Amino acid sequence: MQKLPKMVDPTSDVGEGVSEADAPTCATCGSSIVEEPTHRVITWIDEGQVRTVHFCDDGCRMDWDGE
Ligand SMILES: [Zn+2]
Repeated sequence: MQKLPKMVDPTSDVGEGVSEADAPTCATCGSSIVEEPTHRVITWIDEGQVRTVHFCDDGCRMDWDGE
């Protein structure tokens, strides 16, 4: 038996990551969060709606005092 070479898929994994336009912004300093390792997210339920707030790091999260 002869083994055939594997086909390479040309459409694999091109768009990994988030572009700046799609990135969430920090609720405290307003900077875009693009794959920041320090990214923090808070999610809670407010009158039946899911609310999500993003922060670029713990410092901004601590500085946040609501909307
Ligand atoms: Zn921030």
